[in-house]
Amino acid sequence: MRKNMLLGLLLLAAAIVSGQKMNSNKKAAIASVEKHKEALIQISDSIWALAETAFEEDQSSKILADYAEKNGFTVQRGVAGMPTAFVATYGSGSPVISVLGEFDALPGISQKAKPTKEALNEGAAGHGCGHNLFGAGSLGAAIAAKELIEQGKLKGTIKFFGTPSEEKFFGKIWMVREGLWDGVDVNLSWHPSASTRADVQSSLALVDFKVEFFGQAAHASADPWNGRSASDALELYTAGINYYREHIKPTVRIHYHIQDGGQVVNVVPDYSKLWVRVRDTKRSGMLPVYERVQKMAEGAAILANVDYKISLISGIYEVLVNRAGGEAMQKNLELLGPISYTDQESAFGKKIQEVTGKPQVGMDASIMPLEETKEHPGGGSTDVGDVSWNVANINLGVTTAPKDTPWHSWAVVACGGMSIGHKGMVYAAKAMGMTMVDLFEDPKLVEKIKSEYRERKGDEVYEAIVPEGPPPIGGN
Ligand SMILES: [Zn+2]
Repeated sequence: MRKNMLLGLLLLAAAIVSGQKMNSNKKAAIASVEKHKEALIQISDSIWALAETAFEEDQSSKILADYAEKNGFTVQRGVAGMPTAFVATYGSGSPVISVLGEFDALPGISQKAKPTKEALNEGAAGHGCGHNLFGAGSLGAAIAAKELIEQGKLKGTIKFFGTPSEEKFFGKIWMVREGLWDGVDVNLSWHPSASTRADVQSSLALVDFKVEFFGQAAHASADPWNGRSASDALELYTAGINYYREHIKPTVRIHYHIQDGGQVVNVVPDYSKLWVRVRDTKRSGMLPVYERVQKMAEGAAILANVDYKISLISGIYEVLVNRAGGEAMQKNLELLGPISYTDQESAFGKKIQEVTGKPQVGMDASIMPLEETKEHPGGGSTDVGDVSWNVANINLGVTTAPKDTPWHSWAVVACGGMSIGHKGMVYAAKAMGMTMVDLFEDPKLVEKIKSEYRERKGDEVYEAIVPEGPPPIGGN
């Protein structure tokens, strides 16, 4: 804790030397987040306990939308054909600044707010990606900006986007298709993390599709010669994919989830189904692999003498990084200084590290220096990617869990329901609120961020990987 304090003082000194100071609007943004802090924590905890999964976030979405409405935002619910998607708007004219709020949970990882594995509700979902914090923190930042506009201290429009189903189907792609970011100058986003940084790394583009095989059922022993096995096709298909792995670039990932491999041992199955996912650090690298992996389904179907069908689920772009935006965010992180933790919180973090077999170094909320942007980042994928190809986007990561915590696991759920998660959520609200102040106050900064966006986008014509028709509410 003393190390953190010392680091805080050093960063503060560095900020003063570099001419950064906390102006009155930034102080007011911080004060606004403090004023709403208990309510934001309550919102986060309610969403955490509800743990509603993709497209079923009815109550979670309502909690956020209701609080925005109560705070004077005009809320449009059920946008882009998704009952749980909404837009909350306040103010008028430019600049138009927006922020993303996610709130969906992951199935099967229910967990109490304690550092050893114990389900809150056995078999239920849990917030293993911290999206309960994500939504509440972003709303806190939007409200801070709104209050400054209301007081006449800032001019422009603030929008909060309630974005459902990030963990499955990628709700934002339908919101992008609806043109909801048209006219927005700069968008902000953050994500719970095991470290604190202005995030200038991209993510992986991906595509999801379903492969189904259709054969002929028969008795597995009495007349197997009358059967054409859909599960044979499935096995040949996955064998093909696994041979192909030797010949793909190291940046490519291929995953599959067998959703139906037949029901019983004594029937030649006439039906099988897989969910297949192809990723690469660039959409342009992912597309040829996607083509190839689709072609393999035809090959498997020929071998097993069955029919096949491929259905697109959806796909997303890699994140388009914005370093000018990242630099603005970084300055505010340095002004805020790192989060400090109590001895109990450090012990909680160390216990999680002990249980998950990691070095017991505790919490790390030190502010990381702005990194070089890697050509080929590691990590996962996010539908923030599609937003970032349609509007200049600033990303932030804030510590809400101990270092090395396995993500999408019970350990993240545990931290998101107690003070370690709360502190990160409040910190994110402040850092984004301060960066919004910069954007509202400084048209040159907005232009710099937008011109970098145009330059990085170049000639790329955004083309969503999204099937025709409405979003797959209730589908799989
Ligand atoms: Zn997430």
